[in-house]
Amino acid sequence: MKPNKHKATHSAEKEFGGALGATCIPVFLPLTVLYLLSVCRSPAASVLQWPPHLPPAAQLWDPLAAVLVVGWITLQSFLYLLIYPINGFHALSITAVLLIVCLWLGMPLGYLFELILPLAVCAIGVSYLLSMYLYIRSFWAPQHALSLGGNTGNPLYDFFMGRELNPRIGDFDLKYFCELRPGLIGWVVINLGMLMKEVELRGSPSLAMQLVNGFQLLYVTDALWNEEAVLTTMDIVHDGFGFMLAFGDLAWVPFTYGLQAMFLVVHPQSLSTLGAAGIILLNGIGYYIFRKSNSQKNQFRRDPTHKSVAHLETIATATGKCLLVSGWWGFVRHPNYLGDLLMALAWSLPCGMSHILPYFYVIYFTILLIHREARDEKHCRAKYGLAWDTYCRRVPYRILPYIY
Ligand code: NDP
Repeated sequence: MKPNKHKATHSAEKEFGGALGATCIPVFLPLTVLYLLSVCRSPAASVLQWPPHLPPAAQLWDPLAAVLVVGWITLQSFLYLLIYPINGFHALSITAVLLIVCLWLGMPLGYLFELILPLAVCAIGVSYLLSMYLYIRSFWAPQHALSLGGNTGNPLYDFFMGRELNPRIGDFDLKYFCELRPGLIGWVVINLGMLMKEVELRGSPSLAMQLVNGFQLLYVTDALWNEEAVLTTMDIVHDGFGFMLAFGDLAWVPFTYGLQAMFLVVHPQSLSTLGAAGIILLNGIGYYIFRKSNSQKNQFRRDPTHKSVAHLETIATATGKCLLVSGWWGFVRHPNYLGDLLMALAWSLPCGMSHILPYFYVIYFTILLIHREARDEKHCRAKYGLAWDTYCRRVPYRILPYIY
């Protein structure tokens, strides 16, 4: 089959700062991951320290890390293929059983703390290699398999955004696999490693560490339990598979979303029972809003006549699809983002108020969701036209009622 390089390109509006952004982000973000990890392990844990805390080159590489990263992706690929197609929760459960066996056999999981920088270097390397493979193979993909946003003809931009929408090797859907498996499950395994490191150092896990582990495990379990919901997300439906998603899934998520647990290893915090109860309540409220609103929309999209959603008020659109204007989606235009942000705050609070670093996730996530909301808004306005304007008038706030 001949490559499709002469096929028409799309002149879609460029996102993420266009060609300049697409050139800088693949350099800047991997360095950010390594910087955050190394600052997080330093006694001062100060992101504002100058000169910045940089690890010596010798700390960046360990062949064991390469073996672990390749072994991990191979294990998750095997679990993915075992009972294809929707088996994320099974993959998590089997991984948990394997981990329990390994711990019982005396595997020093706390060593992940020492190995974290080389592991991140290897994960970044894998995401680069994968993105290059994806970019090259996309020239053999048929036109209908290409994404709208990642085919501008600018190689750096297209490499970043991803040319092919859902690249597959046989039945193996590369994007779908990366979205929920190696990075997401890897994140909670790294968290557990930090908990075990704390046990090694202090004899038992602190309350703060248990909360961070528990909250984030709930989040990952929920994502895998409701795996089919990912099929309707922007990542799967709209975005091509390129560096942005490959790096995000394989390196950014597992190594920056769990910074709180790593922070707690070096900076133990004492948490009062009342403080812990307040944080648990906040996480519970966030989770409730997040889950209920996501489920309501998913159910409505699957079957609008279902009894749980049939009573809700809707607006008809020219596409034949309707928009919800009551229930959660009549409260704000992205109630699911609000719930997610409340949870993000609850994950940071156990780390106390002395440092900004454990708040990295909630700060970054607020920026990400505001940007994502604006992207989604643009897509919805293009899709639904006047009906979307009516929806925006009926539900004026985007994420936070009366504020934003
Ligand atoms: P959403 O689940 O918010 O979906 C947006 C889509 O929903 C729109 O494009 C539209 O699609 C549909 N929609 C919007 N308004 C309405 C309405 N009133 N009635 C019916 N349908 C409507 O998108 P995301 O993929 O951004 O988020 C999914 C979840 O994942 C969220 O909870 C988010 O917080 C979370 N998330 C987490 C991330 C993380 O790193 N932790 C990163 C990104 C997201 P259509 O009409 O075509 O169905």
